[in-house]
Amino acid sequence: MYRQIKLFSMTLLILCSCVQAEEYTARRQQMIREIEADVLDTAAYIDKRALNPKVMEVMAQLPRHRFVPQKQQPYAYENRPLGIGHGQTISQPYIVALMSDLLHPDPGHRILELGTGSGYQAAVLAQMGAQVYTIEIIEPLGKQAADRFAELGYGNISTRIGDGYYGWESQAPFDSIVVTAAASHVPPPLIDQLKPGGRMVIPVGGGFQVQQLMLIEKQEDGGIKTRQILPVRFVPLTGSH
Ligand code: SAM
Repeated sequence: MYRQIKLFSMTLLILCSCVQAEEYTARRQQMIREIEADVLDTAAYIDKRALNPKVMEVMAQLPRHRFVPQKQQPYAYENRPLGIGHGQTISQPYIVALMSDLLHPDPGHRILELGTGSGYQAAVLAQMGAQVYTIEIIEPLGKQAADRFAELGYGNISTRIGDGYYGWESQAPFDSIVVTAAASHVPPPLIDQLKPGGRMVIPVGGGFQVQQLMLIEKQEDGGIKTRQILPVRFVPLTGSH
């Protein structure tokens, strides 16, 4: 009798997780449709009507619900930022998709991220084959993200706790750099750590105000080309720099 009950409970558990997995897949597809709609709505700003299909493919598969606290899991596939504790957020999926697209990630690229947060942005880039170096200033968030990367099997993400303003000099130069918190100015150490031909995406402006998402391209001669992409709203870059 006991064995029958155990077998029944296990079958029920497997059945439930299959149904939940299917539901998450459907919600992710809906999230992708909403990102595509946002891309069209902002086409005049971003100068394109579709993002890199590989970015969309990765985001259609990545379990965003694994990157948010349990109480946020029912909302994990809504196209909006969500709280992850410590006053911080996982960014809106559309913005993650856009920033990933702007970085032009290729397999083998070395990418630096400032602001690990939940780890979702780093996972998108890692899933595209990049070697990701990510820095978080809030220790519990950084440690939680590192555990998550280990659980999900990301061997190509290196984590560090500290002030990302100074970059990660021992691992430089980088093919691209993504800053996921708003800076009052572009940190000069990050420009230095970008390869010639490299790209940086960074929100610039006052914290909690409307900022400008900027694309910075380092020319082969070391010169800098800057383009404003879109008004955005990010939490501020903190630290003692
Ligand atoms: N990329 C994250 C994700 O995918 O969940 C979202 C990041 S959240 C919008 C911004 C993160 O930047 C927060 O976790 C915050 O603690 C971190 N941060 C702020 N200032 C920082 C700094 N100077 N160095 C490193 N991380 C910083």
